[in-house]
Amino acid sequence: MNCTDLLSHLSDYFDEQLSPRLLDEIRTHTAGCQHCKVVLDTTHQTIEVYKGNEIYEVSDELRERLHTAIMSKCLAKK
Ligand SMILES: [Zn+2]
Repeated sequence: MNCTDLLSHLSDYFDEQLSPRLLDEIRTHTAGCQHCKVVLDTTHQTIEVYKGNEIYEVSDELRERLHTAIMSKCLAKK
């Protein structure tokens, strides 16, 4: 699991559609990757707000923004 893999599973993660094995891999990754942890936490908070308004959706735009954020921060050191 790397940052790109994590991102590709992001919507399934928040839809709780992931297998236990994938969930485990995501938890393992975020334990060692502060940026992805922040992204997950932030997205979770955002979704909670959306859920309150019943317009919950991990939109393509949000995914794109997260993708950009991860790529610029998380992968910049490589
Ligand atoms: Zn990461």
